[in-house]
Amino acid sequence: MKVFRGRAGVPSEQRTATFSGTVYGDSIMPATDKVGVGSVNFAPGARTFWHKHEIGQVLQVTSGSGFVCLDGGEPQVIRTGDVVHIAAGERHWHGASGDSYMVHTATTLGTTTWQEEVAEEVYRKAVGPAGPKIV
Ligand code: MN
Repeated sequence: MKVFRGRAGVPSEQRTATFSGTVYGDSIMPATDKVGVGSVNFAPGARTFWHKHEIGQVLQVTSGSGFVCLDGGEPQVIRTGDVVHIAAGERHWHGASGDSYMVHTATTLGTTTWQEEVAEEVYRKAVGPAGPKIV
């Protein structure tokens, strides 16, 4: 057993390489036996790049609202209290609404394979005209 102290002297880390917009992440539990837990804070309009998880991922929205979208599927609105299971290998993105921030706790199983960014026109089709444009 090991207790991970969430805010023990570790600054929030801005995520830029595989996210669009302003995103800060806090590692809650570094990957341990293929399970990692983090809190991710998306500003309005911010989102992940397209990606896949080796084993899967569970997202729990703890504040705000946003979207999760599988490649080829319709974007799903997610709000505070919602939980999403993403299966192994499903290509997807997640992020904030255009007019709301979103905070989710992400429990990630196995490695993540990052792909290309979610184009502004793809995101805009999901969320509608409201909110900031991030290019
Ligand atoms: Mn994911």
